[in-house]
Amino acid sequence: MIVVRDPKDKWACFPCPCRCGEIVKLPLGHARRPRWSVAIDKLNRPTISPSIRQTSGCLSHYWIRRGRIEWCKDSGGREKEQRSTPTA
Ligand SMILES: [Zn+2]
Repeated sequence: MIVVRDPKDKWACFPCPCRCGEIVKLPLGHARRPRWSVAIDKLNRPTISPSIRQTSGCLSHYWIRRGRIEWCKDSGGREKEQRSTPTA
């Protein structure tokens, strides 16, 4: 479960969901790109858009929706072994 303590924070920081130990830091509301926006629901669950991609290390690629991780098919992490159709 991802928790963003204060949606007005300029950064969202959380450990990478693939458990590689990396701390993901997303700039929020910064003028420079890329940047992400966070919406917090009544249960304090963040939805972050757009998707998050680690450009180094584990190469994870995922969405966070209502505090839950939704892995993208091209994630360099755990989706690899679950991929059933070859990509051309
Ligand atoms: Zn990772």
